[in-house]
Amino acid sequence: MDRSLAELEVLVRNRICSVCTERTVEGQCGLEQPSSCALFRLFPQVAQAIQSVQSDDIQQYIEAIRRNVCSVCAAQAQDGSCETRQQVQCALDAYLLLVVDAIEEATGRTFDKHGLGGPDIGITARPRPQIQL
Ligand code: SF4
Ligand code: SF4
Repeated sequence: MDRSLAELEVLVRNRICSVCTERTVEGQCGLEQPSSCALFRLFPQVAQAIQSVQSDDIQQYIEAIRRNVCSVCAAQAQDGSCETRQQVQCALDAYLLLVVDAIEEATGRTFDKHGLGGPDIGITARPRPQIQL
């Protein structure tokens, strides 16, 4: 099924913010500046990066995020390192598996959760429609 980028963002927000450690008991984002969350600040690039990958290998999604999102994120240093990532404070990086899962599911693919945590993390590749960017 086709999803607009806005619909996809709402879906990912519902899925990720609800489990994010930054979430307050009142259900709000606990970041000092909620708009600074890289996952949603750069959501168009995130959606595009994930959609650009057709693979069973989660590593390829990580590389696409580094290439297309981290490269334009203000938090990344010139040498490619990221303090925010190192401190596990980037929700995109910390919850990447769940983000991929949510976007794949919303766009008609199935993420194989049986592989989570093991060396054989896999995404069942099926043809999927394009996200309307
Ligand atoms: S840090 Fe990002 S993912 Fe976590 S609650 Fe805030 S907006 Fe949601
Ligand atoms: S890992 Fe760092 S550079 Fe990449 S999106 Fe997150 S905060 Fe930005």
